[in-house]
Amino acid sequence: MSQTRDIFEDAIQRLDDAFKYANIESEALEILKHPKIIIQVSIPVRMDDGTLKIFEGYRVRHNDTRGPGKGGIRFHHQVNLSEVKALAFWMTCKCAVVGIPFGGAKGGVIVNPKELSKLELERLSRGFIRQIADFIGPEIDIPAPDVYTNAMIMGWMMDEYSKIARRRTPAVITGKPIPLGGSLGRDDATGRGAYYCLKELEVKRNWNPGEIKVAVQGFGNAGQHVARLLHEDGYKIVAVSDSKGGIYNSSGFDIPSLIKTKNESKQLKAVYCHGSVCEAITADILKNEELLELDIDVLIPAALENQITKKNADKIRANVVVEVANGPTTSEADRILKDKKILVIPDILANAGGVTVSYFEWVQNKTGYYWQIDEVNTKLQKIMSTEFNAVYSFMTENNIDMRTAAYAHSLSRIGQGIQSLGTKSYFTDE
Ligand code: NAD
Repeated sequence: MSQTRDIFEDAIQRLDDAFKYANIESEALEILKHPKIIIQVSIPVRMDDGTLKIFEGYRVRHNDTRGPGKGGIRFHHQVNLSEVKALAFWMTCKCAVVGIPFGGAKGGVIVNPKELSKLELERLSRGFIRQIADFIGPEIDIPAPDVYTNAMIMGWMMDEYSKIARRRTPAVITGKPIPLGGSLGRDDATGRGAYYCLKELEVKRNWNPGEIKVAVQGFGNAGQHVARLLHEDGYKIVAVSDSKGGIYNSSGFDIPSLIKTKNESKQLKAVYCHGSVCEAITADILKNEELLELDIDVLIPAALENQITKKNADKIRANVVVEVANGPTTSEADRILKDKKILVIPDILANAGGVTVSYFEWVQNKTGYYWQIDEVNTKLQKIMSTEFNAVYSFMTENNIDMRTAAYAHSLSRIGQGIQSLGTKSYFTDE
């Protein structure tokens, strides 16, 4: 994750591009350039060896015009405030793109979770919630999982918040384990949402899935599920990678066995091992940079931000980039991809399936009525397909790129909310 540019400043630049296509006044735009609340906390954690370690964490509520803040909590050693602000901003736009009644928020703790024991991780998770408890709540700001946080961590966090609130409060957090009020379908919702976008594109481009080569950077929660669903439909997943490196097979991988291997061994084994244990997977070894530059049809960055930059954008050979990760493409790289006529399905649309099913989870928690998996997936598909097509049509009608169209679509919705309380023209009768 290169931090050469301030990622928040880079992120909000996209607003200016979209402004002229959006139905929004300039003062509403100005509000969106400034996060509403920024909290920085210190989290003291007693480590297993008896020492006390202090971790630093953040929670940013970017905007809550359309509803309570919504956004994940990331545990990563490279977390920084600018990144959390950018992620919160993207959440505001993302919730509006898919029309769900939430604003945007995000949290992060600077930690390498792989270095913590399970008990240390639990203490850190509960400690973070104690520090931010006054700033979150079912009607205020609702966290969720993000990079290196998972359902169990959400369960600990919900449990800790419930103790503080002295009442069981499942709607304070989403992405929980199912027995604690999680929604069916939340685990694969992000990958599934991206998959539904691609299914719409498949129709528009008249694709035969068997001829479409796909590479997935980042084989975690989001990356695995989109790869699995595409593979089930016959797409050829020819390359995948994780933080340690990537693997390539021109005939396409059997994704279920790759998922099994990765989840059992915590790595894409073929990257490292030689000989017997890896015989099940035939693959060439790839560096992460090489995966991005492969001669394929669809590139799916599903790891971290700032992966496609001005340094490598010119080398991207895919026709379509599906941004399952948040912010994988810098604004400079965006311009290069646009010149190369590569269609980028932007993050705020492509990975919005996760927050959409988080919204379903929150609705179920608040009503106490839980849905079957078919109901979740059908509702998700309806939202993703409708909003994908709305953004796609806006793009073609205005002859702009899909990111600008997605931002304009979301800005119009947020703008309507902000402007409903009055604007300069209303108060001055101009
Ligand atoms: P995860 O922790 O489950 O997986 C991340 C994966 O990326 C891991 O396999 C890791 O090894 C890999 N990775 C890390 N650095 C890498 C690198 N430099 N090159 C290649 N792989 C690398 O996280 P996730 O939940 O799948 O999230 C991935 C991305 O999707 C993030 O940008 C996240 O913000 C975004 N996202 C996730 C969700 C969700 O519901 N999980 C929702 C919206 C957006």
